[in-house]
Amino acid sequence: MKVAVKIDEIRQQVREWKQQGLTVGLVPTMGYLHEGHGSLIKKSVELCDKTVVSVFLNPTQFGPNEDLDSYPRDFESDKELCQSLGADLVFHPSVEEMYGEDASTYVEIVSEMPKQLCGKTRPIHFRGVCTVVSKLFNIVNPDKAFFGEKDAQQLAIIRKMVRDMSYGIEIVGCPIVREADGLAKSSRNTYLNEEERKASLCLSRAVKLGREMVEKGEESAEKVTSEMKNLINKEPLARIDYVQAVDGVTMLPVDTLKKGVLVAMAVYIGNTRLIDNFSVKE
Ligand code: AMP
Repeated sequence: MKVAVKIDEIRQQVREWKQQGLTVGLVPTMGYLHEGHGSLIKKSVELCDKTVVSVFLNPTQFGPNEDLDSYPRDFESDKELCQSLGADLVFHPSVEEMYGEDASTYVEIVSEMPKQLCGKTRPIHFRGVCTVVSKLFNIVNPDKAFFGEKDAQQLAIIRKMVRDMSYGIEIVGCPIVREADGLAKSSRNTYLNEEERKASLCLSRAVKLGREMVEKGEESAEKVTSEMKNLINKEPLARIDYVQAVDGVTMLPVDTLKKGVLVAMAVYIGNTRLIDNFSVKE
């Protein structure tokens, strides 16, 4: 497995692979990799001849009062995980390599879509995500790119960007990977102290409750999200940002829970903001 820090190195390697007729998968990450990221890498290794993992803590997707500076990093362990799962190339550029001093071009969806859910508290987040993912697409030129359903709004936004900008890249969504007790794996889980870690289970419990209500035939978004909120509000360390049902493609609010609807939440546990969700299957 190679590690490249320069854009030109990636371009040259991918050009060679493409000349040999090989397909390329891209797994974009911000590092501090865990089994959630691992599941994306595995899927790429399964579906593509070559897999590129990008490890880049992207400053443009963090707001001024967010956790860019404290975000966990461990590139040595990231490399080991990538290697053990069969990745071929890790792209680990510096901020200067990605943006230069005078970068001033953004890729932004200007509909209501990025203003919903996480966009309400993180107004510039999805502009940063679209910009960096778009750059990674231009640099790596992959056939397929892999994203987790844990960040469901991000996945929907990337799909929309790919449609709107005519990227000839297949976007592959991968299921949420959870800890044994249900908490969705996240690099940010490392912020939780022992007490908060216990409290964080209210998210996955709310997901379970919501899903069970839907499976029993409940179609009212209001009823299901209210019950989920009640469950979370019983946890003293939890503060709800949102629990909402939205159309799985447009991210706009819906009243009825039918196939394709996303029920998503963001909840602060102490100072740590965690997200979780489920999709209505039938
Ligand atoms: P991040 O490093 O947090 O930007 O995440 C990189 C990619 O890994 C994104 O596509 C995430 O949705 C995905 N991911 C993160 N955590 C999980 C998880 N628990 N299960 C599945 N995918 C995940």
